[in-house]
Amino acid sequence: MQLYNTESHRKEQFTPQNTAQVTMYCCGPTVYNYAHIGNMRTYIFEDLLDRTLRLHWPVKHVMNVTDVGHLVSDADDGEDKMELGAAREGKSAWDIAKFYEEKFFADFDALNCTRPTVISRATEHIKEMIALIKTLEEKGYTYRTSDGIYYDTSKFPRYDALVGRSRLEGLKGGARVEMSEEKKNPTDFALWKFSPKDKKRQMEWDSSWGVGFPGWHIECSAMAMKYLGNTLDIHCGGIDHVSVHHTNEIAQSEAATGQRYVRFWVHGEFLVLHAGKMSKSGGTFLTVQSLRDKRYDPLDYRYFCLTAHYRTQLEFTFEGLDSARKSLQTLRRETARAVAEAAGLSLTGKEKDAQAKFQAAMEDDLNAPKALAVVWETLRGGELNAAEKVAFLKFADSILALDMFRAPQEAAAESLPEQVEALLQARAAARQAKDYKKSDELRDQLAAAGYRVKDTPQGQQVEKI
Ligand code: AMP
Ligand code: ZN
Repeated sequence: MQLYNTESHRKEQFTPQNTAQVTMYCCGPTVYNYAHIGNMRTYIFEDLLDRTLRLHWPVKHVMNVTDVGHLVSDADDGEDKMELGAAREGKSAWDIAKFYEEKFFADFDALNCTRPTVISRATEHIKEMIALIKTLEEKGYTYRTSDGIYYDTSKFPRYDALVGRSRLEGLKGGARVEMSEEKKNPTDFALWKFSPKDKKRQMEWDSSWGVGFPGWHIECSAMAMKYLGNTLDIHCGGIDHVSVHHTNEIAQSEAATGQRYVRFWVHGEFLVLHAGKMSKSGGTFLTVQSLRDKRYDPLDYRYFCLTAHYRTQLEFTFEGLDSARKSLQTLRRETARAVAEAAGLSLTGKEKDAQAKFQAAMEDDLNAPKALAVVWETLRGGELNAAEKVAFLKFADSILALDMFRAPQEAAAESLPEQVEALLQARAAARQAKDYKKSDELRDQLAAAGYRVKDTPQGQQVEKI
């Protein structure tokens, strides 16, 4: 298997340290809001990696849930995203975390992402984080300021491992602008933050340095090493994590253990909107639920993601999603036809060649677009009989996870009149705002237009009366 390693800037042959299992850590969601479809693109690529690795080895896949300590700004002086979410919604930070974690995993499951072997919440690993900070303190990597315990990045020679010396200088320049006077270097970061003196935080813990909470970076280092050991085979995340979060994870972990932290750093590129990057803090973002409200199947979006290589930026458009939906419907129709024609036919082994071609594409740094092309060629070509096609499609679907064998929903693919579409969207917005009176009025208007709407866990479903 060839995998591109951000640290070496090239594709490398991947084999695990121990063939009994691959150890893989993926940065998980910060549960202060819904995950947007950009976040979900990253989890889809990580799922493809997990499924492809499993063709050779078992995988111990650990994902964290950040439910404390992720500040709004990288400069360590912003507010905690969780406490901000709690203030926004008038709930406790703990309730916010629980609510959005559940929503996150509902989307994760709907996109057919395999659940990680271990899901670890930051708030349940404070003891491990404190122990790691203590080790760094004993080894002389930390210093105290009025608001916390900081990591002194000038003491760690490999601090440029991921970004390179020249880019690091640029980053330092940027960070200096917002640098607090007490920091020794612009890239230094908080390991432990003290609770503010004038305000009671909802999430805080005792420590020998004072009451406070952990920094976001130390969470991932502590949890990754607890479950996977000092040296991980693979660490994944979105490309935005390279220059700060993962750079800081290396600094903390390697300074503490004296060992290499990660063998392969694998990063997914962003999903972008025409206007720029999609972000939770930017306010407007699309979620899996908002796609459902527009009557897309979450797997239409998974198909859309598979049409681009994970290391290229992907621009989201509804035209692109429509075309993915059409392709997936066609794929399911043709799969159903192959299943119907396969009765009585036997395998001659030709399906193995198609499988090998498909697998070679996935093992070439997860080339999903090429693997999809192999699916279409095999399905359309005359080389394989229907039974062989079915055997091949089962294999391909175990990696691509598009539910190819699901019955195609002809009706769902038809577009609704614009007026009905608008009523449905208004009703989804009313329900999200818990305005049930308005939602009922809109149901009546839909009925008057000839459509019956049902509310299901997957969102609104509509049928002609
Ligand atoms: P967060 O919940 O903000 O910590 O992000 C969760 C994951 O989504 C991280 O791996 C991020 O790097 C990734 N991510 C954030 N925005 C995007 C985007 N627009 N496209 C793809 N991945 C993203
Ligand atoms: Zn992380």
